[in-house]
Amino acid sequence: MMGPAHSLSGAAAWLGVGAAAAAYGHPMPWPVLLVGALICAGAALAPDLDHKAATISRSFGPLSHWVCEIVDKLSWAVYKATRMKGDPRRNGGHRTLTHTWVWAALLGAGASAAAITGGRWAVLAILFVHMVLAIEGLLWRAARGSSSDILVWLLAATSAWILADILDKPGNGSDWLFTAPDQRYLWLGLPIVLGALVHDLGDALTVSGCPILWPIPVGRKRWYPVGPPKAIRFRAGSWVELKVLMPVFMLLGGVGCAAALNVI
Ligand SMILES: [Zn+2]
Repeated sequence: MMGPAHSLSGAAAWLGVGAAAAAYGHPMPWPVLLVGALICAGAALAPDLDHKAATISRSFGPLSHWVCEIVDKLSWAVYKATRMKGDPRRNGGHRTLTHTWVWAALLGAGASAAAITGGRWAVLAILFVHMVLAIEGLLWRAARGSSSDILVWLLAATSAWILADILDKPGNGSDWLFTAPDQRYLWLGLPIVLGALVHDLGDALTVSGCPILWPIPVGRKRWYPVGPPKAIRFRAGSWVELKVLMPVFMLLGGVGCAAALNVI
């Protein structure tokens, strides 16, 4: 899928988690619902850090181009090192290492660890990176063009600052789900894991599938491309994505949000 559909599905997924959490007795304060949905929308772009043309690789100027090249090389190296007989030869790392549950879990665990040990600046950094991505993803057309990069960064920095202040206030959810005193912001890793997994599922629906299960082998393949039967897969950026999936994500997100806030 393309950036905007990934972001929307990420936001909708977190709102769905909000609804489930409310049903199981851990309702999210509204800042957790909002910030989580934005982080998840941003995190749903992150696996494409292995692809030069992807939104995330263009979002932070030369820095993200550079990280993208390293991630691409690393992914390709891991692919070659762990390939089994049934896995085809490849000449790049796109849709390999960063599109697995292992990567999602590592990223989320890293963010949670940074958030509980690194204090306010770590939380701000996590928020900033994901706000930039959420803006690029959700406001796709408006945020395009390199001249608007600085505006996006400013907007992201401001909103990260404001949201961190709101979350910090007692009762606003810095201790949502994990209530021990040294576990504040531990939950920040959850929307990051969820966003990456939702991205992988979205890619699995497209023609080439997605090796989510790595390193668990399926048959003679360790990089088995998970996906539905070929007949119901679609091409990234096709009308199915724009005219069917995106409105469905919006609708599901709306329902999830209403349920999470106990409006319905
Ligand atoms: Zn992808």
